[in-house]
Amino acid sequence: MIEIIAIGNEILLGQTLNTNVHFLSQQLKSLGYVVSRHTTLPDEPDPIREELSEALKRSSLVITTGGLGPTCDDLTRQIAAELFHSDFRYDESIAEDLRRRYGDNLRSLKDQATVPTKAEVLFNRVGTAPGLIFEKKLILLPGVPQEMQALFLEQVVPFLQRHHPAPQRAMTTLHFCLLIENQLDPILRELRQKHTEVSVGIYPGYGTVTIHLFGPTSKSLQPFLTALQEQFGTYLFPSSTGKIEEAIHEAFLSRKLTLALAESCTGGTMASHLTSLSGASQYFLGSFVVYSNALKQKILSVSEKTLQEKGAVSREAVTEMFEGLFNITTADFGIAVSGIAGPLGGTQEKPVGTIWAALGRRGEAPDIWTFRAKGNRETIILKTSNSLLGALWRKIAYGIRGGE
Ligand code: ATP
Ligand code: MG
Repeated sequence: MIEIIAIGNEILLGQTLNTNVHFLSQQLKSLGYVVSRHTTLPDEPDPIREELSEALKRSSLVITTGGLGPTCDDLTRQIAAELFHSDFRYDESIAEDLRRRYGDNLRSLKDQATVPTKAEVLFNRVGTAPGLIFEKKLILLPGVPQEMQALFLEQVVPFLQRHHPAPQRAMTTLHFCLLIENQLDPILRELRQKHTEVSVGIYPGYGTVTIHLFGPTSKSLQPFLTALQEQFGTYLFPSSTGKIEEAIHEAFLSRKLTLALAESCTGGTMASHLTSLSGASQYFLGSFVVYSNALKQKILSVSEKTLQEKGAVSREAVTEMFEGLFNITTADFGIAVSGIAGPLGGTQEKPVGTIWAALGRRGEAPDIWTFRAKGNRETIILKTSNSLLGALWRKIAYGIRGGE
């Protein structure tokens, strides 16, 4: 069991987002470790002393970040040394390294080169405060994220592998598009009752769900994989991060196809996600963010009649947007979307979250469907973007019609 303790008033005050704990937990998980607790403490001696000694009793390894520096609010090193009944010594090699990087006038030099005798020192090549390891079970890292990350990756990971090898456990991550938690939950619950040695984590995204399965062996995960594959196989998408755009990226590149979009309510969000991946220019032609009726008409030739009689959020409008998109691009695939992201603009007939979409391949009739995305404006936009990319993935990978 590993605990992570973040130290710093700035975190408790909400001035600094605790990204260190996020980073460390992600890294540790991917290395196969189980993090059992996160704690955040103020820069005050009593809470730090109490929590460190409790944590050391409870867990086999404790990692702290912050409070290692030379300023008066930096207490972690002193308190840890007291807990381990350690004196301090002046380390000439740390001093020399600091002099080499910062010159002779670094005011904190003497302080930063003075380390507890009982601690193993981790050289900080990015900043001034060295990391410290006490008796192979308490690791102190600096608070500055770049320093903490460099120390962790370069020195703590090899230390962990040597002194705290991760338990051999199998882990699989599955990403599903177009599903919500509640659709996957019943099958997972049932399987867990039969296979209690497997633990399951469900992480809902916006229009996607990620499932982590942990078990003693890869064989123990097999019943889960088989059942999920049978019931929801066509919703699975390959991705290292759980982002649907990764699957689209690979699918289009490997098939040498191109894509163009006509985005109204998503305001370019799909384009933004797709172009966040390097190499997108090889398949992604672009997106027309035709937010106003005037641009829908002018750029995509949506007729005035349609806009007046049916409205911009309608089957007819997205059909014409889709046709216009194919007329002015050479794309093999296209998506046109129009909807009401809210919070204003909803009606009884077309409430906030009403989305119309057209999706398809050049030369074929498009799939046209409507759905309702729930949530606030940001959520509606994200769910719509990811759902449409999910529908595109299923269309390309399995030939499944959009909306089915
Ligand atoms: P140093 O004095 O060598 O810079 P330190 O160990 O004393 O390191 P702190 O003084 O606690 O570190 O924090 C330095 C800065 O690092 C803070 O101002 C804050 O911006 C950032 N920081 C501290 N803790 C975290 C954290 N948990 N997540 C993200 N950033 C953090
Ligand atoms: Mg601090």
